[in-house]
Amino acid sequence: MRFKLLVILVKVTPSRSHAGMSKASEHTILQFKDIRHLGNSLKRAVYSVNFSSNKFKRSSNANLKNRFALSIKHRCIAELKMAHKSYNGDLNQIKQYMPKVADAIVACFGGYCGEPCQASSLVCCGNYRQAKNYMPLTVKLRMTEGNKVLFLKLMDIMLSPLALDKTKFLTSTQKCEAVNRFLRSCKPKNDH
Ligand SMILES: [Zn+2]
Repeated sequence: MRFKLLVILVKVTPSRSHAGMSKASEHTILQFKDIRHLGNSLKRAVYSVNFSSNKFKRSSNANLKNRFALSIKHRCIAELKMAHKSYNGDLNQIKQYMPKVADAIVACFGGYCGEPCQASSLVCCGNYRQAKNYMPLTVKLRMTEGNKVLFLKLMDIMLSPLALDKTKFLTSTQKCEAVNRFLRSCKPKNDH
């Protein structure tokens, strides 16, 4: 069975709760983020990309979209964690390497695992298994060039240099909130 990935509307929004705040202050304050938090933003964004298929009924289509979004989220989290491990938390090296990882992920999910993953992925050895983690084995994604560009853009939520800055400590939500609270409490907002 095949289905087509059609993109009608993509909303690349960070989490709703921070949307207002980051708009006002994105140039002045760096909000540390929990890796799962950004992962969920990514999942929501991927989910909002519209799948269309005449082979799937609406319910299973929603299920597939969800499974696809979940796969992307987990893949990005796994790559990010492995990058921190491989480069010993060296953010500059991680930032340089991540675009290659993102390209490999697109290739992997687009049905071209193998060489790109062997060369650049940190968690997929190129055996065509990783892309199918949460997807039914029978489903093949076909992505247009436009889809791929959008897919890359979506992954910026987790893998862009700015996102990498936000998750550089790979901390838990509580720790992030504690650090953010600390920053808020010890400095007036305008000084950040
Ligand atoms: Zn792969």
